[in-house]
Amino acid sequence: MQEMVKLDTMKFLPGLKYLCKEISSVIFRKDCPVCGRLSAGQWMRSCSRTSESTESNQDNMMLKHLISKIKSTGPISVAEYMREVLTNPVTGYYQHRDVLGPQGDFITSPEISQIFGELLGVWCVSEWMAAGKPKTFQLVELGPGRGTLASDALRVFSQLRSVLKESEISVHLVEVSPKLGEIQAQLLTEGEQHLLHDPSGAIYRTGITKTGLPISWYRDLRDVPKGFSFYLAHEFFDVLPIHKFQKTKQGWREILIDIEPKSPEKLRFVLAPHATLASKALIQQRDDERDHIEVCPEAGVIIDNLASRITEDGGAALIADYGHNGTKTDTFRGFRGHQLHDVLTAPGTADLTADVDFSFLRQMTEGKVTSLGPITQHQFLKNMGIDVRLQVLLRNASDANTRKGLMDAYNMIMNPEKMGNRFKFFALLPYNRLISKHDTKTVKCGPTAPPVAGFSELQL
Ligand code: SAH
Repeated sequence: MQEMVKLDTMKFLPGLKYLCKEISSVIFRKDCPVCGRLSAGQWMRSCSRTSESTESNQDNMMLKHLISKIKSTGPISVAEYMREVLTNPVTGYYQHRDVLGPQGDFITSPEISQIFGELLGVWCVSEWMAAGKPKTFQLVELGPGRGTLASDALRVFSQLRSVLKESEISVHLVEVSPKLGEIQAQLLTEGEQHLLHDPSGAIYRTGITKTGLPISWYRDLRDVPKGFSFYLAHEFFDVLPIHKFQKTKQGWREILIDIEPKSPEKLRFVLAPHATLASKALIQQRDDERDHIEVCPEAGVIIDNLASRITEDGGAALIADYGHNGTKTDTFRGFRGHQLHDVLTAPGTADLTADVDFSFLRQMTEGKVTSLGPITQHQFLKNMGIDVRLQVLLRNASDANTRKGLMDAYNMIMNPEKMGNRFKFFALLPYNRLISKHDTKTVKCGPTAPPVAGFSELQL
C-alpha cells in the first residue's frame, strides 16, 4: 500500500520532489574544506596563497622538454602545448600532484559543498526513472579530480536504495592522472586490498566502492564498457587542448608557441605565417564576427562519442563547466595557488584552462541526441532543490560554525557574482526523451514526457 502511494507521488511530481524528500535523512560529509574545517577568513587566506614548490626540477624539465621540441620541429600549436603541459605522462601538471583544494591551485564546486554532488546524483536517479528504470546502469565520470563528486553522488544512490531497488549499478572513472586516480581510490573504496592494479592496462584499477558497487578506472572514454550510462563531466572539458586562431588581412592564422629569440629560456606566442592544417580543418565560419577564436577538437571527439553511446545504449550526460555560446574570444589562462598565472611561464606548475564553447558541443551532437542548456549553475541547482537540501542540513547542524560553513559554501557556488553565473550546465539526452509517447493506432497522445530535472523550474 505504501508502495502505491510512493508511485503515485512520483507520477505526478516527475520524481524530483520525491527524491529530494527521500535524501533528506541528513548525512554530513566530513571532509568539506569550506563547511567545517575552515572559517570564511581562513578560507580567503587559503585562496590567495601561492605554491612554494613551483620551480622544482621537474617543472624545469617541462620547459626544457618544450624548448627542445620546438627546436627540433618548429613552433607548436597551443593544443600541443596544453596537452604536453597538462598530461605528459612524466612531467604533466596533473600526473603527480593533488592540484585541487585549499593547498592546491584551484577549488571546484564539489569540493566546496557536498550538496553539489548530491544533487547531481539525484539528477541521475531522476533521469533513470524517466527512462523506465532500466535494471542495469553505469555511472561514468570524466576527470573526477579527488573523487568527491562521485562520492557524494554514490551516497545519494545508497540513500535512495528503496527507489533504485535491485538495480545493478557500476562506477567507471576516466582519469589520466595516476596521482588523482590514487586519491579517488582512497576516497571511494575501502582500502588497497580491494584494488587490482594494472598500470599498463586499459582498465588500470578496479575495486569495490564503500557503498558496495564495482568500480573501474580508465584513461580513455573509449575503453569504458558500452551500456545504459549516466556521464558526468565537471570542469573536465575546460582542460582539453584548444587551438587558437587570429583573424588577419590574409585570413585566419593559427597562433603558435615559439622560443623567445632574445631570451631562449622563455616562450612566446607567434602567428603562423601560412594556413596550418588546423586552421584549414577547424575554421568553418570564416565570416565569424570575432577576430579571435578557440576550437577544441578533442572536446568534439569526446562529445561525439558520448552522443553515440547515448543513442545506442541510452542514458544521459551532464556537463558542467565555465563556458559560452560561441561568443567569447581569448579565454586561455592559467591558475596557480588560486591566482591567475601567465600561461607561458613555468609550464607544468599551473593549471591551464579555456572556456568551453557550448555552441560547438551542441553542433557536434545535432541530429543524434537532444541537448539542453547551457543554463547557469545558479539556475540548475535552484531547479534541483538546493534550497531545500540546504535547509535540512542547516536545521541539523550541531553548531554555529558548521551553519556558517554551510552558508559560505552555498554562497560560493550559488552567488551569481561568484560561481553561480560563471558555471553552466549542459545535458545530452536520448533523441526521444522530450517527445510525448504517442499512440499511433488511436492517434491519442500518451502521457507527456516528464520534464528534465534541473532544466525546468522546480515547484516545491
Ligand atoms: N571534476 C573534478 C576535477 C576537475 S580538474 C572537480 O570538479 O573537482 C580536471 C580533471 O580532469 C582532473 O581529474 C584531471 O586529472 C582530469 N583530466 C585532465 N585531462 C584529462 C584527459 N585528457 N582525460 C581524462 N582525464 C583528464
